[in-house]
Amino acid sequence: MQTTRRRRSAPRWIDPFTPEHIRRLVAEFGSPLLIVDCARVRAQYRNLARALPGVDLHYALKPLPHAAVIETIRDEGGWFDLATTGEVQLVSRLGIDPARCIHTHPIKRDADIRNAVHAGVRVFVADNIDELEKFIPWRGDAELLLRVSFRAPGAVCDLSRKFGCDPEALPTLARRARGLGLVVRGLSFHVGSQAPNALKHLEAIETCLRLLGQARRERLGPFDTLDIGGGFPIGYGERAPEIGRFCAPLRAALAKLPRRVRVIAEPGRYIAGPAAIGVASVMGRAEREGHWWYYLDDGLYGSYSGQLYDHARYPVEALRDGEERLPSVLAGPTCDSIDVIAENLMLPRLKVGDLIVGRSMGAYTWASASEFNFFPRATVVAVNRRPGDAGGV
Ligand SMILES: *Cc1c(COP(=O)(O)O)cnc(C)c1O
Repeated sequence: MQTTRRRRSAPRWIDPFTPEHIRRLVAEFGSPLLIVDCARVRAQYRNLARALPGVDLHYALKPLPHAAVIETIRDEGGWFDLATTGEVQLVSRLGIDPARCIHTHPIKRDADIRNAVHAGVRVFVADNIDELEKFIPWRGDAELLLRVSFRAPGAVCDLSRKFGCDPEALPTLARRARGLGLVVRGLSFHVGSQAPNALKHLEAIETCLRLLGQARRERLGPFDTLDIGGGFPIGYGERAPEIGRFCAPLRAALAKLPRRVRVIAEPGRYIAGPAAIGVASVMGRAEREGHWWYYLDDGLYGSYSGQLYDHARYPVEALRDGEERLPSVLAGPTCDSIDVIAENLMLPRLKVGDLIVGRSMGAYTWASASEFNFFPRATVVAVNRRPGDAGGV
């Protein structure tokens, strides 16, 4: 019994939910659920703040744009990274101070800029001349960060292929901004999500240090902000590098910046990823070719969409005891054959209504879920919303 139990429950570093707690929430809110632990959001924010002292952390809404996460970060004194009109509207609705927000989509429609400026957002990102020209009508209202690209061909998500200007082209872009009368606050980059190590961040910081100095010497603008983006990694079943250790070389590199340079970062995954679990129920089962197939009410078109778009693999387990373990397949609810979450698992024999839990499912999961086949997205339930709450919703 002891060994089964140890195998069944997730290690404490992953999340604190007990099976009883999870069952209680499903009884109350139904299935599927995405359970967000705001205490873990706080812990992640504080860990990263400790690992990067003096760096203002702007939570990037994209991986989990949910009010509970936003309000938790706000109450920690955090900042925000917005990329769309929808995100601007969400933080506005929550009464977030727009001065604590930056708009970082390098490519915007005029209406996106107008909506954000009207909401009170002042700092925007641009990476090419066309985009600079969109700010001519907003010269007095907007300030810019120029996004620089640092290719990371090995990265799981190489964001520098799609966005950013080459470091060599940066001075020309900065001169053009100056010629148009635009105020450039500084530089930004994003080395790609779930960075395997800090090497790309380091290369980018060092190049930006040089570019900031050059732009200042040419008097192209204030150039007093460096935005080091996101990319801070988390563990999916395996422990990720400890964040303090991951950031140690970054601290050393940032220490070389002149004191007047304000450094900011845009963490998304690191804050939201470990803070949520996905809970799905078995809708039905079938034995096919020696394997038990369990059909869940959440799948690749729902919260497990990150297994496609984000190339992630979430550790899954059944909330049922059982000595005997059988070769099993977990499938999503839709009528599409690709909708399979995991194969070749050894699970106890499950019944309709049994629960399956996926860990580290906060980032790029529910956010990219669809309602394909009219299977609704998971209901988000936030627990520990206020510091000191013990499991309250
Ligand atoms: C997605 C995104 C982020 C968040 O990246 P993570 O790797 O999840 O930390 C930050 N900034 C921008 C501009 C992004 O597009």
